[in-house]
Amino acid sequence: MPARAEVVVVGAGLAGLSAATRLAAAGCDVHVVEGAGHAGGRLATERVDGFLVDRGFQVLNTGYPRVADLDVDALGMGWFLTGARVWVDGRAHRVVDPRSRPTALPATATAPIGSLREKAALAAFSARAGYLPVERLLAAPERAAAEALHRAGLAGTPLDRFLRPFLAGVLLEDRLETSSRYLDLLWRSFVRGRIGLPARGMQSVGEQLADRLPAGSVHLGCRVTGVAGGAVETELGRITADAVVVATDPTTAADLLPGLSASAPRQVTTHLHVLPSSPWDEPLLVLGRPGGELVNSAVLTDAQPRYSPDGRALVASSTLAPTREADVREEVARAHGVAPSELAHLTSVTVPRAQPAAVPPLELRRPVDLGNGLYVCGDHRDTPSIQGAMASGARTAQAVLRRLRPAGGPTSPWRRPPMSDGGPRVVP
Ligand SMILES: Cc1cc2nc3c(=O)[nH]c(=O)nc-3n(C[C@H](O)[C@H](O)[C@H](O)COP(=O)(O)OP(=O)(O)OC[C@H]3O[C@@H](n4cnc5c(N)ncnc54)[C@H](O)[C@@H]3O)c2cc1C
Repeated sequence: MPARAEVVVVGAGLAGLSAATRLAAAGCDVHVVEGAGHAGGRLATERVDGFLVDRGFQVLNTGYPRVADLDVDALGMGWFLTGARVWVDGRAHRVVDPRSRPTALPATATAPIGSLREKAALAAFSARAGYLPVERLLAAPERAAAEALHRAGLAGTPLDRFLRPFLAGVLLEDRLETSSRYLDLLWRSFVRGRIGLPARGMQSVGEQLADRLPAGSVHLGCRVTGVAGGAVETELGRITADAVVVATDPTTAADLLPGLSASAPRQVTTHLHVLPSSPWDEPLLVLGRPGGELVNSAVLTDAQPRYSPDGRALVASSTLAPTREADVREEVARAHGVAPSELAHLTSVTVPRAQPAAVPPLELRRPVDLGNGLYVCGDHRDTPSIQGAMASGARTAQAVLRRLRPAGGPTSPWRRPPMSDGGPRVVP
């Protein structure tokens, strides 16, 4: 650990790494200090009996604008179809975006998730979110998501059978009290992108960014205990710096920066099971049924076979309440049309403080420059997502560079593109 650095970033999640890679690319001497033993923050993956297990079910959505900063090809993605299976009257029905699988159009058109008129309303809602300019979406009156969907003609059956469980799995809340503005941006990303899993697990997204930083500049397993403009106190000593970026989770950020308001009230529990083989022939999420505990369940290996060491199927099933495996085993089995005895329980994980809430009034770009060389970034500064974390890191890097490399100066980083897909570019 250096005693001095130009910039110290506290936290190697996507926000901190997005800031650090941009600062390094602009020629800053940047060091990242991370309390955990891995880069990637809440994107964490471990091996359990040979299976890749992410810390809670999450996916990379290529509709996020900041995914442009990643080398998606190098992640070796495996893809889910955009859509979901819904169980109604003892049968599983497919609801699939016909642009991704035109042959699924008849099944989707006849799926029991509402009348033809309601399906047309869903198509109109998707077209609006996907293709209107973002400024127009953000100019619309802000409401709770449930009310916005109601006004779009999507109350009742489409909401209960499809939209509520689908969105609950992403927003980690099922009352749909989330801001309609965030709903619009999120739905836009589903319309414009695909969702999938990297070959080496979600943690590899963060690791890809960390690998772009100069060797020796990411310090893992070193917790920061205090920050001030000008210095960082760590378990291993003090580092002085021209700029300090706090890129921790919201709760730690609020502890380290008194006066900062940030929290992550959303939580999720994910149960992992193994099946001898997948019961399905397509990689598609299965939605929970109204009144059940599950919000969704997915055979991860249908999308990304590399999550399994030997061809057996890995199933991830999530609940908003902190359930026990025994509470959901039958529901998981029903979701996939298998007997409960076929499911071998691999592990379960409850992630408290998984995400900030994005309720109205949504402040999309909360301040990142706290003055005196102190900065803050993270998903609590933008939206509670991979996109929000990366966008906040990019915004923070710009703020730091405005101070350390004033625009137009001889070493202005803006003379070159600020981000590359390869290694960091040093500005002479
Ligand atoms: C189960 C789950 C499912 C999710 N699903 C999705 C999804 O499908 N799509 C999506 O877009 N988003 C999803 N998210 C949200 C997304 O993962 C987060 O919004 C994003 O990763 C947050 O990144 P961050 O950099 O802001 O924070 P973090 O990832 O929390 O990074 C903060 C880093 O700071 C470190 N740190 C904390 N305290 C200290 C300290 N004192 N000293 C040093 N280091 C410290 C932490 O160890 C961590 O590495 C999900 C989150 C969870 C938990």
